[in-house]
Amino acid sequence: MQAKMTDNSAAKTSSTDEMMHRHDHSDCLHHAMQAAETVCTAQNIRLTPARKRILELICSNHQAIGAYQLLDQLKQEDHKAKPATIYRALDFLMAAGLVHKVESLNAYIGCLTAEKDHHSAILICDQCHNAYEINAESIYQNLFAMSQTHDFQPKQLILELHGVCTNCKRDLDQN
Ligand SMILES: [Zn+2]
Ligand SMILES: [Zn+2]
Ligand SMILES: [Zn+2]
Repeated sequence: MQAKMTDNSAAKTSSTDEMMHRHDHSDCLHHAMQAAETVCTAQNIRLTPARKRILELICSNHQAIGAYQLLDQLKQEDHKAKPATIYRALDFLMAAGLVHKVESLNAYIGCLTAEKDHHSAILICDQCHNAYEINAESIYQNLFAMSQTHDFQPKQLILELHGVCTNCKRDLDQN
């Protein structure tokens, strides 16, 4: 079972490209939720039903979603949901590495490689607002090393690239 899951994650994480085309999203969702269980068990932290539901909502597609959009969706299931419910869950999910904030959109995406240490850049489509992580390890390493030559101590780098995704580009080309 364990080996099977690892194989599965390896297959998924190599396919960001696939994900950026039309695809069966239930695979992504399933993988994200499985990775969440793995990460929480490993870190000995608890994915409560509320946190899990909020993660599912964030991972329900590849669009970055804002806190108030999440609140609206959660309220349809639990009319007592409050902004604090969302913000506490988001803090937990981000600290666990299950969710990333897209700073330039003030919104959130689910991480599809949460079980691995990674440094990524986020590609954001300005047409459909889908946002995808790609591995940017070498950029992090270069920039951190460059900053250190200026005796600067690097802590955090945010890489967000805006543009047009392959699906939207095709749609635009056809019009
Ligand atoms: Zn997907
Ligand atoms: Zn990630
Ligand atoms: Zn797009």
